[in-house]
Amino acid sequence: MNFVSLNEEIEKYLLDNGALKVGFVTKEGMMGDPPSADITYALPKAQSAVSFAVPLDKDKIRAFLRKDLPNGRVEHEIDNIKAYLKAYKISNEVARILKEKGHEALALFPNFKYREDVPFSGVRSFPPVSFRYLAVRSGAGIYGWSGNVGLKGYGATIILGGLVTSAKLEPTDPIPQSETFCNECKLCEKVCTLRMFGGENESVSIGGHEFSFTKRRHLMRCFAGCGGYAGLDKEGKWSTWSPGRYPYPETNDDVVRLLAQSFRLKRKWYIKGEKKGYEISNLKKDGGVTDEEYEALLAQNKKALKDLKNVTLTCGNCQLICWGDPKETAENYKILTNSGCAVQKKNDELVILPPEEARDLFYELGNKNRKSLGNKIVSWIAYKYLKRANKYFQRDG
Ligand code: SF4
Ligand code: SF4
Repeated sequence: MNFVSLNEEIEKYLLDNGALKVGFVTKEGMMGDPPSADITYALPKAQSAVSFAVPLDKDKIRAFLRKDLPNGRVEHEIDNIKAYLKAYKISNEVARILKEKGHEALALFPNFKYREDVPFSGVRSFPPVSFRYLAVRSGAGIYGWSGNVGLKGYGATIILGGLVTSAKLEPTDPIPQSETFCNECKLCEKVCTLRMFGGENESVSIGGHEFSFTKRRHLMRCFAGCGGYAGLDKEGKWSTWSPGRYPYPETNDDVVRLLAQSFRLKRKWYIKGEKKGYEISNLKKDGGVTDEEYEALLAQNKKALKDLKNVTLTCGNCQLICWGDPKETAENYKILTNSGCAVQKKNDELVILPPEEARDLFYELGNKNRKSLGNKIVSWIAYKYLKRANKYFQRDG
């Protein structure tokens, strides 16, 4: 009789259902300095965790980077959400299998679920358990220089999923550095409009292993860039999908001010802009998630799923250009940096123009239409609040 271990059964299920690579780690194997490495936070009786990666659609990524109108942004966004849903769906299925065998198990929601018992939890997001820590420690992925996790042949264009369980699973090893997808081209640094990372390395220690990647300058740079508040690159030659415009923040204090001033402008774009025609029900139809499964997922995690549906992706560039093949990554860099600048006209239409034309149109909009509508008192309160949160934005957790 063939004996199939629990590890093998879980791995087979995940690989058969779209995972690229699967890893396992024990509670002891996750011991280390970052708070989000503690798997018992999500499930007090957790003894092990399972980590895996699913791929994103590279054709849709190219259209997103090129800023194809009308659908380049939305189609990648839908693919991204579908990948999250798929990861969550198959995690839940593994959790169900484990529960049937008498173990406790909990699927981890792959985004938008954060710890609430940490300082400034409204703005600084610590997940219950970090998917990246699980992946690098278990060998389901490996850190690139950017700090994004990826795999050979895919680069960083993956979405991570995972679950925790009381079952004692056999741990797997981290991927050796000789097997990395990253050639340290550092193009990821150049496609971050607000240069969130770069320079010297920082590292985390998990289960006796050191993992390093380049230093985060200030996480609010990503908050402002990937959050869609500010879109123009530091050099002014191209933008993300965001029409938000602020002077490049040279200092930490500048980036705090930028965020404090920008909330209302983002909201204006978000509510009235291109998101209007977005039909979320297609996700269930096209995304391999049935109505029944969707309702079951929704029942478990209403808020996070609602946040996932409402997300507006305008960046992700450091992840999306990195395909694990130096030629393709260089091509992505070229495509993105020649893709023009997004501007939102007075009628809310989003247009993509060469940099000079975009700048002219932006100034033609006039003060009332191109500046933050937030009043000064609101900006001042936001600035004071964010300033107090400042120190929590200077490294991963
Ligand atoms: S773009 Fe990818 S391969 Fe190049 S340095 Fe960044 S993580 Fe490494
Ligand atoms: S997602 Fe965008 S803003 Fe955030 S670090 Fe990556 S490139 Fe920078």
